[in-house]
Amino acid sequence: MNIGLFGGTFDPVHRGHIALARAALAQYKLHRIYFVPGNVPPHKQRQPLTPFLHRFAMVVLATAHEKAFVPSLLEAPEEIETARKARQKPNYTIDTVRRLKQSFKASDKLFLLIGMDAFAEIAQWHEAEALFRECEFVVAGRPGYSLADVANALPETLRPRPEVTRPFHKQPAKGDLVLPGVTIHLLGDLHQPASATAVRQAAAAGKPLGRFLDADVAEYIKKMGLYRAASRES
Ligand code: ATP
Repeated sequence: MNIGLFGGTFDPVHRGHIALARAALAQYKLHRIYFVPGNVPPHKQRQPLTPFLHRFAMVVLATAHEKAFVPSLLEAPEEIETARKARQKPNYTIDTVRRLKQSFKASDKLFLLIGMDAFAEIAQWHEAEALFRECEFVVAGRPGYSLADVANALPETLRPRPEVTRPFHKQPAKGDLVLPGVTIHLLGDLHQPASATAVRQAAAAGKPLGRFLDADVAEYIKKMGLYRAASRES
């Protein structure tokens, strides 16, 4: 089976995330995609996050109508009571990948779903080279990114030489990029400019959220009073 792993803060999950997962599902014949809300993504440690339970609940709502989308507890705090303490601990994608692959059959293949903005920082991720060994990547583009940006974002040991990437500068980030030890599938731009930051700002300003989110998630945010100026710290 082809299995997708889609990790993120999901604070909250929005249409951009769903568009990425749908495109990956269709194009790469994935059988299942795990949505993994991160406990504390290492690169966002300084930002106060909404408690894991709320972010997970919103992922459950947003994925409820698509059989292949599976909300995952792979990065959940061990006990909800200790969530506050556990939130201090970063979790690394490589550990999540290894944990997930323990349940794999030999014929299963893992695809890591990621947006271009996050992929641009991949070289700084913990054990980045190992991550490329463990899975193929599915990267959703953003306007303005070229194939060279994708290749140059690779960890140094996997990055092609400049003379190889030079012709890539004029090519949009589309198609497949296959290099020694690296397979990257490029989805191109999904034209879903939603971001969690924009949702949080709109919610804090009391603006409607329908253009960013599924109605059930928007309703949940309203009911629970999430993203009001004071609720981010609680
Ligand atoms: P924030 O605005 O708080 O930075 P975000 O909207 O980027 O959050 P994350 O949960 O951090 O959401 O993102 C999870 C993954 O989804 C990342 O790989 C990110 O690049 C990707 N992603 C986020 N928004 C989009 C979008 N509109 N289109 C495609 N990919 C996206």
